[in-house]
Amino acid sequence: MHDEPAFDGDHPPSADIVSDCVHCGFCLTTCPTYVLWGEEMDSPRGRIHLIGQGVSGEPLTDSMVTHFDRCLGCMACVTACPSGVRYDRLIEDTRAQVERRHSRSARERAVRAAIFALFPYPRRLRLLRGPLRAYQRSGLQKLVARTGLLDRLAPTLATLESLAPRLRGVPRPPARVRARGERRAVVGMLTGCVQGAFFPDVNSATVRVLAAEGCDVLIPPSQGCCGALSVHNGRRAEAQRFARRLIDTFARTGMDYFVVNAAGCGSSLKEYDELLADDPAYARRAADFTAKVRDLSELLAELGPVAPRHPLPMTVAYHDACHLGHAQGIRAQPRALLRGIPGLELRPIADPEICCGSAGVWNVLNPGPAAELGDRKAKAVLATGAELLVTANPGCLMQVAAAVHRRGGTIALAHTAHVLDASIRGLPPATLTSAR
Ligand code: SF4
Ligand code: SF4
Repeated sequence: MHDEPAFDGDHPPSADIVSDCVHCGFCLTTCPTYVLWGEEMDSPRGRIHLIGQGVSGEPLTDSMVTHFDRCLGCMACVTACPSGVRYDRLIEDTRAQVERRHSRSARERAVRAAIFALFPYPRRLRLLRGPLRAYQRSGLQKLVARTGLLDRLAPTLATLESLAPRLRGVPRPPARVRARGERRAVVGMLTGCVQGAFFPDVNSATVRVLAAEGCDVLIPPSQGCCGALSVHNGRRAEAQRFARRLIDTFARTGMDYFVVNAAGCGSSLKEYDELLADDPAYARRAADFTAKVRDLSELLAELGPVAPRHPLPMTVAYHDACHLGHAQGIRAQPRALLRGIPGLELRPIADPEICCGSAGVWNVLNPGPAAELGDRKAKAVLATGAELLVTANPGCLMQVAAAVHRRGGTIALAHTAHVLDASIRGLPPATLTSAR
């Protein structure tokens, strides 16, 4: 296999996109791995060069795979590129080739198998919450430190558990919630895997906000993973299976929109049309589905507010999740929604384009550099002096919270939905600052 060309004919990275790169280097300073290490091959330009070597028939080397693996998929380079290079396409196609054609070590295979047997399955994640709580309290960390696998997975899961609210008191939303007042839209809603298992309060707040803004909300309990984690890690066939199932689950519901409150999920849901383009049975349905997908803030901005906002006199730092800002170009809408709350002061975070190091499961696979990126972000967040950090992705919330904790700092954390919900219901700021 070593002398074979890096890529086969099944969706290889596009030579045309590779040739769009004019090597100007404008993307370098926004790339988190280049910021960390200053290595050309760990920059977008360097990775495009390596992909170009593969496209021209060079074999796939271990070193190439390492540089591809180190990419967070944050898409800051896509935002920064003045030539419009679709690096997102290149790395997604490259990763799918790597997963099919490159043999990983037994240890890497075990870590990845454990991750993908767990994270895309909300029920399995929920079942783990009890043991994780015990893990945190029992000092079991010392024991698991001896095993490579749990050493990587357990701290992340334990962080999830420590941040998540107690499940008791957060009932699952019913399958349909009616609009308050005049109905303006019918929306299907993704509950998500990590979001659904560890942050059910974000989903509850989302449902209340949507209903208050005149939406009937459909939440079929049988829904599964959207496939984001799989597609972002080169597991295209698995992602396609998840996508087909989700499309089937929401078929014939009559929804006008499909709303998502987790940035990473939203960005891949908006690409279902491309993911299933070669599937004659689903291509058209996937395109129809994609056209309905909206991030929560995007939909609320589109509909315009009808529910009165009550004052929330507090300072808030808003963090752009990469898959919302870079991948979906949604930056103005959440800020406008927050600024629409009387008394709320929005404070900017320095270097907003640089990833916090969460990036799906990147922080599990690359704990050292992820912690460095988290520390940089935590420093910038704490420098704002804000009382509350708001973002729209569970991974970012956990990553920044863990880093703030390491620095001995304190800041309350919330999803955009929490803040809107508190304002619409007339709750005091303390509801948000003492919630977690
Ligand atoms: S996606 Fe992010 S980590 Fe990957 S090359 Fe682009 S900027 Fe760097
Ligand atoms: S990806 Fe874009 S910004 Fe980066 S070197 Fe190539 S052309 Fe320049």
